[in-house]
Amino acid sequence: MSRPTVRDDVALMEGYHSPQVDVRVRLNTNEAPEPPPEEFVEELRVALDTVAWHRYPDRAATVLRARIAETEGDEVDGGITAANVFAANGSNEVLQSLCLAYGGSGRRVATFEPTYALHSHIAKVCGSTVVSGGRHADFTLEVEEARRLLLTERPTITFLCSPNNPTGRLEPEDTVRQVLEVVEEVDGLLVVDEAYGQFSPWSALSLVDEDRPIVVTRTYSKTWSAAALRLGYLIGPTWVVDDLERVVLPYHLDSLTQLAGVLALDHLADMRRRVAHLVEERGRVEAALGDLPVDVWPSAANFILFRPRDRDGADVWQDLVDRGVLVRNCASWPGLEGCLRVTLGTTDEDDEFLAALTAALS
Ligand SMILES: *Cc1c(COP(=O)(O)O)cnc(C)c1O
Repeated sequence: MSRPTVRDDVALMEGYHSPQVDVRVRLNTNEAPEPPPEEFVEELRVALDTVAWHRYPDRAATVLRARIAETEGDEVDGGITAANVFAANGSNEVLQSLCLAYGGSGRRVATFEPTYALHSHIAKVCGSTVVSGGRHADFTLEVEEARRLLLTERPTITFLCSPNNPTGRLEPEDTVRQVLEVVEEVDGLLVVDEAYGQFSPWSALSLVDEDRPIVVTRTYSKTWSAAALRLGYLIGPTWVVDDLERVVLPYHLDSLTQLAGVLALDHLADMRRRVAHLVEERGRVEAALGDLPVDVWPSAANFILFRPRDRDGADVWQDLVDRGVLVRNCASWPGLEGCLRVTLGTTDEDDEFLAALTAALS
């Protein structure tokens, strides 16, 4: 049989996987522990009848983008309109569209490790060269090193993830401003991935402006309790949105996703209640971890990174699985040696996690 070989650069890549194990308590993928409100599902069921199934969807996703602009606009000085919003199938497709438009062959994309693995993965799949800087031991950004990297490599895209996955750390406003200054110096675009933005006390949305090369990406997957929906978006200057329209597939966002995205926004208060509860839960679990022999980093997200002091991280991970609790095993990831990441769950799930960890470490 004759068959084509995959691209040389792709052959060296591994796909992105989050290993699933069938256990009682799953705290490994930063999903919301609670489903969206029942009324949302009921409204979606009713709205299904309004879809003209024989027609293509609204290619510009007009209503959805206007509603997202309305919902997020408060945080942007001067407000925003639909023209400042680009929506796609998960924020991962937003990131991919950015890499297709501004990255690609012969161009560089910058990341600061350890961070969300898909930033470098997507950049490479799109043919870009990835250049990476490190971080301080406490996982905060080394601004001077970042400056050196960006001035040397002149990347067209610089990714910051804030709060950062998997460390949970928020990049302070001062850091983001300083990085943005350098990005402007090298004619690049700063992409702040705020998949966990609503859990955090500060958002880079306050820096978005038509004359600044900065965009903020967000998603329905975590705060909106809708990972199954596959819907994410970006807020940024209108010229970025125009550039992304050039590369994204026609009619990429189906009618059902657009509808669900609009209906979800009707339940803003409910989302905020769920987020506030998780933030409270984060304080409780952080405090409890403080009483155990583990190092913990302060988190501004819905998960917590920790490292057992006296036991191998991978062994503790297996021990937790044996006790019915699945967390993310980061122990072998570069820069995260021995670390585990736990997603905040329901109060009961978090109690089960804490009990299992206490037992594993005693
Ligand atoms: C979970 C996550 C996303 C979400 O991607 P979707 O495609 O919207 O589900 C994006 N960025 C980061 C850093 C994440 O952790």
